Amino acid sequence: MSMRQTIDNSKSITPVDPFQWTKIVPLKVTCFAWHAEVDRIPSTVNLLQRGIFSVDKYCSYCGVVEETTDHLLCGCPAACTITDLVFRWYGIQHSNFSYTSEVLEFVYNWGTCLNRRRMLIGICYGMLWCIWRARNDRVFNNIKTNPERVANIIKSTVYLWFKHRRRKGVCNWFDWTVSPFSCI
Ligand SMILES: [Zn+2]
Repeated sequence: MSMRQTIDNSKSITPVDPFQWTKIVPLKVTCFAWHAEVDRIPSTVNLLQRGIFSVDKYCSYCGVVEETTDHLLCGCPAACTITDLVFRWYGIQHSNFSYTSEVLEFVYNWGTCLNRRRMLIGICYGMLWCIWRARNDRVFNNIKTNPERVANIIKSTVYLWFKHRRRKGVCNWFDWTVSPFSCI
């Protein structure tokens, strides 16, 4: 059974209905977004709940709040700044999010143009993935990347994915950094 079938057949959790699959980002990234949404990623609070006590339970970004999945990816001031930078680049004004499911519900229902929405969903999954990667670098490699830098990494990472995975390809890098709509 494929990973996708396993996830779709899961009865024990209630994901955002329905979770949106996309081929414009790697499958591991979409799977990560799904695992984050149902709180199945190894955040320190989740590790503690599984009996793994050799971790610092506080968020590696702010250091003052326990690192739950939703805090790390949405509620932490660093995550808020990253989300704000990425969404503003996309031309979106939004209120702060507290839950990963809120972010996903928002992008799944955003706007009226399907192509723009699909691209936003891919960017959103890339954003969650890159925040997690930056967190791992911080925790395991002592590499501290500020939110502005993480936002730029998200733009370049998603650009490369789109460039290689979209049938239509993607626009040039300069246009992309000004507005991803140039590439639709
Ligand atoms: Zn934090």
